[in-house]
Amino acid sequence: MRAVAVYPSKHEVRVIDHPEPRITSATQARMRVFDVGVCGTDRDIVSFQFGTPPEGSDYLIIGHESLSEVVDVGAQVSKVKPGDLVVMTVRRPCPHPSCVACRQGRQDFCYTGDFTERGIKQSHGYMTEFVVEEERYLHVVPRELRDVAVLVEPLTIAEKSLEQIWTVQSRLPWDRQHRAVVLGAGPVGILGAMALNVEGFDVSVYSRSPNHAEKNPILDAIGVRYIAAETHSTEEMAKMVGPIDVVYEATGASGVAFDVLKHLGPNAVFVFTGVPGHHGPIPVDTDEIMRNMVLNNQLVLGSVNAPPQAFQSAIQHLGVFAERWPDALRSVITGRFPIEHALDALKNQPGGVKNVVAISEG
Ligand SMILES: [Zn+2]
Ligand SMILES: [Zn+2]
Repeated sequence: MRAVAVYPSKHEVRVIDHPEPRITSATQARMRVFDVGVCGTDRDIVSFQFGTPPEGSDYLIIGHESLSEVVDVGAQVSKVKPGDLVVMTVRRPCPHPSCVACRQGRQDFCYTGDFTERGIKQSHGYMTEFVVEEERYLHVVPRELRDVAVLVEPLTIAEKSLEQIWTVQSRLPWDRQHRAVVLGAGPVGILGAMALNVEGFDVSVYSRSPNHAEKNPILDAIGVRYIAAETHSTEEMAKMVGPIDVVYEATGASGVAFDVLKHLGPNAVFVFTGVPGHHGPIPVDTDEIMRNMVLNNQLVLGSVNAPPQAFQSAIQHLGVFAERWPDALRSVITGRFPIEHALDALKNQPGGVKNVVAISEG
């Protein structure tokens, strides 16, 4: 079967022929892959900054944002059946008995770093025709979400962050509408803005845009304020928004993030989800930040990967988005490419939001 593979040692990316996987245990299912989304992680992998092949292989099949259909199941599989649409999780537990997080199925909090990740770290990904996986890593998606369910995985970033926000903010035992600022209007930022909006936050998005636009049509459609970073400083943004309760950072641009950190409101929480490259040191007024954090009871947290419950929340939220804003949600997916043209999907598309490699129709 065809697969998109990266050869880190040869600095090569191409469509290869890879043996079709088979069910080898009674608790596995075999899937036909429909859609695979492309994100910054994939772009880092195909530019050889990131990504490790499985042991004994000189290539890694990429792709971790998937939607597929179950075609076969092992004798003990009870959660899914042939014909079900499923989204697979990405991270798999480390082998160490002492890692309490992995032993409890919370490999998103792995202590050892010896986890694997499909399509990223020592495990083949989903940008191929068929995949076999243990049923506990599958999440069934309603058929109505066929067009957009490839967005479940990038939405889980916001879902885990929301779970973390609610957990830490349970330190404030009263009801109050929270103001949220999302940094970045890429797919993670837009899906995060949708999730925060559905959860009742007053949401503003602060971002640069490829064409320096003053408006963002998707955010307009969902009723979220867009503030262009090209024409508004972080000070102006903070004045326009008012005291900020939550910042959901979805750009990986550390300079802007630390600038916004200065404007965080009382008792607020700042969530980092972007992973910046190494661009060298930048000056930051650490006295000001530390003073604000102490005098305002602020909290900064980083969030990576997502647990099963975040996949369930993402599927549920995606259903709500599809009902409220069907056109805006569909327009998050800007390009669909057949597997032969997967390399075009991996190129950065100016103005594009999310590219998808459409492997099978169904
Ligand atoms: Zn991704
Ligand atoms: Zn672990």
